[in-house]
Amino acid sequence: MSALFGNYGKRRAQIIKGRGTVVEDTAGKKYLDFTSGIAVVSLGHAHPAIVKAIQEQSERLWHISNLFDIPGQEKVAQKLIADTHFSYAFFCNSGAEANEAAIKLARKHTGKHHIISFEKSFHGRTFGAMSATGQGKVHNGFGPLVGKFTILPFNDVNALEAAIDDSVAAIMLEMIQGEGGVNSVSAEFAAALAKICEEKGILLIVDEVQTGIGRTGTRYAFEQTILKPHIVTLAKGLGGGFPIGGMLGTAELYDTFGPGTHGTTFGGNPLAMSVAETVLDHVFDSAFLQNVQELSAYFVNQLKVNLPSTYTVQGKGLLLGIGCGTAEVAPYIAAAEEKGLLLVGAGPNVIRLLPPLTVTKEEIDEAITILKTILP
Ligand SMILES: *Cc1c(COP(=O)(O)O)cnc(C)c1O
Repeated sequence: MSALFGNYGKRRAQIIKGRGTVVEDTAGKKYLDFTSGIAVVSLGHAHPAIVKAIQEQSERLWHISNLFDIPGQEKVAQKLIADTHFSYAFFCNSGAEANEAAIKLARKHTGKHHIISFEKSFHGRTFGAMSATGQGKVHNGFGPLVGKFTILPFNDVNALEAAIDDSVAAIMLEMIQGEGGVNSVSAEFAAALAKICEEKGILLIVDEVQTGIGRTGTRYAFEQTILKPHIVTLAKGLGGGFPIGGMLGTAELYDTFGPGTHGTTFGGNPLAMSVAETVLDHVFDSAFLQNVQELSAYFVNQLKVNLPSTYTVQGKGLLLGIGCGTAEVAPYIAAAEEKGLLLVGAGPNVIRLLPPLTVTKEEIDEAITILKTILP
């Protein structure tokens, strides 16, 4: 009998160690990890530079609290905002917390509480983030939700235009809906968002918890659009496996978050910052990002060449999806696991491919071989 709540539907493999893209279970069976712990372990498992950062920082100081200056926060913030339109960063422990900070900041800054978000979005499980999430299965049984979120169809310019009035504080969305099916924001929708936010003085919050930190081939996914969000939220890939969240904001938002307005005990502690700094030193390197784009192009091409044309290939960078029409993907994912390839779904009908950003072409080839055998 397990002593744990049953809130997770557990997979069969019991993974106990990993290195790079390869993980191993209790029986010594090896798997290619094309989940990266859900877009988290971006430098692969047990990356030596991260191991070293944790070892060294843990011997120096791992926690002191935000009562004191934490020099690592300044360093990581500088790296995150360098050559962007952002001026400030805030650190927390998870994606949901980053979105809570964003929602609070948007409410306080505008003095309004109406936020628009989208169907099939995922923003986290806390009350604010859950209320922003456009998926009934995330809400069920937990109401009443936090007001006021209006959830609109994604990529629907008409619905967006019709929903805008003076009560709207912010619009919140993912550039690629990760959990919801690997759905990219369309160029037309991005243009409408930019125009509406500019004209109406509405804040744009881009949730890059999954798409950020190199996952889509650029530092942030919004950089591949015309959008310049006021707020971006980060988490998953930023810690390379260490729990961390972050929020970036533009200069005009500075005064809204004055001393005592918002905070966290653990957020941005020295150990987390030493890991994030190491991740950024690797990922925010143009050659590294270039390589992610090349791996992506290779992977997409191999998928298109090797899979029947009934499957669609979606997403960007190394946040890719195989659309399986109306077929449920859970049995395919279980079959892949049997054959040594770990995958995760995105909604019921899409297989999500999230290898570490350090994956090799050979590993992609191996994954393709397995995918060919398990997909009908
Ligand atoms: C995973 C995810 C979250 C929630 O992050 P947690 O760290 O699980 O709270 C929020 N937004 C997006 C886009 C995500 O993919």
